[in-house]
Amino acid sequence: MSITASLGYPRIGRNRELKFALERYWAGKSTAEDLLRSAREIRQLNWQVQKEGGIQLVPCNDFSLYDHVLDTTWMVGAIPERFSELKSCLSDLDLYFAMARGWQKENTQVAAMEMTKWFDTNYHYIVPEIAANQRFCLNDSKILEEWKETRAIGINARPVLLGPVSYLLLSKPTSPGFLPLMVLDRLIEIYAELFGHLAEAGVEWVQMDEPCLVQDLAMEAVDAYRKAYTALSKVRHPRILLTTYFGRLDSNLSLAQELPVDGLHVDLVQAPGQLDEVLATCPAGRILSLGLVSGRNVWRTDLSAAVSMVDKAVEKLGRERLVVAPACSLMFCPQDLELETELDIDVKSWLAFARQKLTEVSILGMAANGEVDAIRPALVKNRRILESRKQSAKVTNPTVQEAVKKITEKDHYRHNSYIRRKIIQKNELNLPVFPTTTIGSFPQTLEVRQKRSKFNRGIIDKSEYETYLREEIFKAIRLQENIGLDVLVHGEFERTDMVEYFAQQLEGFAFTLHGWVQSYGSRAVRPPILFGDISRPKPMTVEWSKYAQSLTDKPVKGMLTGPVTILQWSFIRDDQPRQKTCRQLAIALRAEVADLEKAGIKIIQVDEPALREGLPLRVADRADYLRWAVDCFRLVVGGAASETQIHTHMCYCEFGDFMEAIIRMDADVISIEASRSNMELLDKFRELSYPNDIGPGVYDIHSPRVPDQKEIESLLRKALTVIPVDRLWVNPDCGLKTRGWDEVIPALTNMVAAAQKMRIGL
Ligand code: GLN
Ligand code: ZN
Repeated sequence: MSITASLGYPRIGRNRELKFALERYWAGKSTAEDLLRSAREIRQLNWQVQKEGGIQLVPCNDFSLYDHVLDTTWMVGAIPERFSELKSCLSDLDLYFAMARGWQKENTQVAAMEMTKWFDTNYHYIVPEIAANQRFCLNDSKILEEWKETRAIGINARPVLLGPVSYLLLSKPTSPGFLPLMVLDRLIEIYAELFGHLAEAGVEWVQMDEPCLVQDLAMEAVDAYRKAYTALSKVRHPRILLTTYFGRLDSNLSLAQELPVDGLHVDLVQAPGQLDEVLATCPAGRILSLGLVSGRNVWRTDLSAAVSMVDKAVEKLGRERLVVAPACSLMFCPQDLELETELDIDVKSWLAFARQKLTEVSILGMAANGEVDAIRPALVKNRRILESRKQSAKVTNPTVQEAVKKITEKDHYRHNSYIRRKIIQKNELNLPVFPTTTIGSFPQTLEVRQKRSKFNRGIIDKSEYETYLREEIFKAIRLQENIGLDVLVHGEFERTDMVEYFAQQLEGFAFTLHGWVQSYGSRAVRPPILFGDISRPKPMTVEWSKYAQSLTDKPVKGMLTGPVTILQWSFIRDDQPRQKTCRQLAIALRAEVADLEKAGIKIIQVDEPALREGLPLRVADRADYLRWAVDCFRLVVGGAASETQIHTHMCYCEFGDFMEAIIRMDADVISIEASRSNMELLDKFRELSYPNDIGPGVYDIHSPRVPDQKEIESLLRKALTVIPVDRLWVNPDCGLKTRGWDEVIPALTNMVAAAQKMRIGL
């Protein structure tokens, strides 16, 4: 018989219980026991829900108090050197949190470990730090305890482990010129020891996550896979399910098939095309786990299509050798659709969150076992729902479809080249050299958030709320004038979130009440659901920008979130290619640009901080992505007059791999993060000589530290070695919304003073 399995379940709790338990604990308002009890309750409930949902092979150790990569670091004892002094004064639990969040007391400060995106998801993991002389030591109490907890409720769970090769590939070396993979032998010993303990305890299967197998692998990595799994096959071990997800195995398929493991899991949601080849190459006797239900999106699965894949696999391998499962952990999608009482009834009928996806897996499991009659009603219902989605007037908007068809190549081009535009804009704007500006948002103070919350709860009315926002804008404009900034912003006080703000005003989006997904640690986000053709019923930002501009003679920047960023931070449609959805967003934003121009706004910034995140995992797919992503940006701004200065902003410093794409965006001005890397990124700009204006951030907004004038001057001088004097802008790294005014005012004052000093030097 085939069995059903789950690869992981959301850890934050149905009502974000983990978040609240963590934050209470961190604030000193509860004990470690309280926290651990809440964590245990979440796990228990997850196991129960999965079991009741028809999952036969339930995971354990997929839960984490903060992050599963950090758990792995803890498990193998790879605690970075700088935390060793804390070992004597902190409990294990607090040391673990110190690694994630940093530690500060009196004169001692220990920096947190770095955090970065988990593949192409919006989840962030804690990056392991591996030293050349790295020692490991096994600490497997968490896994064994969780496993025992499942035994106690009559489940023989399958522990989830991050495989040793992916672990090292996701690590960073503590010294240059050294590859973490070089310590693989020592790490294998730890896994071997762990396997012994697991087998001893009676664990039948382990899920070894090796998501790096869907990426391009260097020769060393391929060798590492061979070495690690050959070594592990020789020690006493539970059966190993080599688990891949987030894409196709492709060039690594033969590698995956030749490794001496007991089963292979493949992602057939993001890579349905790989099924035939996977089946054709599956070694005799090996289990194949079919990932048929998306763990990353919110849509109902097309069950009929999934059943045909199941049938194919059954025919080829027989049902004994099959496992039916979600494509990856369900932790990337919200928990339970039943909590959503406010969703449009049609939209709701098209969705499936984690709990509903379990039912889908269970139906597919029945299909694998030939229970055709039993599942027929479910399949009929599923087909009817998918059909209703396809036919729905809520999804298809003929006007939008027409507008998309009318786009021409020409729409992606400004009238004049940057050189011409620069001259025109110089006349129009009359800015000094080293123009100073900020990235858009000003502090979202407690007061701002409270006003918004009062407005949302109906305690204050719209006019009172808007009057308040106007006052904040007024103060922000006066303040910027007093500080002496050259290009002002209105401050984004009306926005909770740079994507949600736009999504709420566009047709084609739906919002959940409880659709939280973990972003990192205790933080969760509630991405909007983009379900239909996108249109803009009316201007979205014009009133605020116009008001701000009316208060000053200095130019105020219009502030838009770019189409790629809106796309990346939303749950998007699975019924059309990403790029098609993105183009619709671009058309809506293009209309907003035109309206801002009409309202007299002379500078418009289109933020694309998520452009880089959208890069596909496979290098071969990147050029195509960058082509359409940049085209979408160009479509937003292509209609702007030459007089209108277009800015863009991105906040990351690894530009190396896609500098050409940034050049092709052809923004008049780009502002980027640079101060944390001490302007290192400028090397790239030197190599490829970025042709337009650029503002490399001169101070780190992620830190409360106020930079002094000298420091900013020296960064500017450094920048001048690469960027011509008439193209250098002066601005912070990113928006200031997470900072307080007491930090922002002196920092910007110093920044302006630095720019003025530089001007004198000319
Ligand atoms: N304009 C946005 C802000 O200042 C940009 C935010 C971002 O880059 N993430 O907040
Ligand atoms: Zn930014």
